[in-house]
Amino acid sequence: MKLVIATKNRSKARELGELLKGLAIVVLSLSDFPAITLPPEDATTFRENALKKARSVFEATGLPSLADDSGLVVDALDGAPGIYSARYAGESATDEDNCRKLLAELADVAPEKRTARFVCALAYKDERGEEVFDGELRGRIAASARGENGFGYDPVFEIEGLWRTSAELSGDEKNAISHRAKALKRFQTWLAGRQLG
Ligand code: IMP
Repeated sequence: MKLVIATKNRSKARELGELLKGLAIVVLSLSDFPAITLPPEDATTFRENALKKARSVFEATGLPSLADDSGLVVDALDGAPGIYSARYAGESATDEDNCRKLLAELADVAPEKRTARFVCALAYKDERGEEVFDGELRGRIAASARGENGFGYDPVFEIEGLWRTSAELSGDEKNAISHRAKALKRFQTWLAGRQLG
């Protein structure tokens, strides 16, 4: 089976590619389809944004498509940055800009009130229909950035129980527990069940 990963985010594509390794799936990315542009992420939920991307890539390629919409939900900020995680500090913000803004917003918030979670909605679309799978990773926002790995908010996100930031984990360690990995596991289970059915 061929599957197109419907994201322009290289870090997400890398993680999803690693997670799909070993399955009987030929993984294609948007670099195999340079003419494709993704629709704007203007929906109000992770699930709807993911579905928009999966639908548009399926329409353009005719191939099964898998899209990720994900972000960081911080309780003390009423769920922000949420669906705006990629552009929290502005349209062309870097990961560093976003982490810096988040730490500044939480400067006066005590450690026990800095609870947060990474959320991932994975949308799959093919000629038989569409389905969305969720995954979440709980933790809290650190006092300052730590670690060199990962991307996005990984350096400021301390994983519950482990209390290391996700940027302090190796790629394999993160892929064993991440929100993305959990959503992908659910997708795999569903796909295996459907192929048997
Ligand atoms: P979008 O799904 O393209 O709208 O962007 C998701 C944004 O959420 C990324 O740009 C990151 O800032 C953040 N994000 C999503 N997943 C992760 C993760 O695994 N680690 C760190 N940040 C993440």
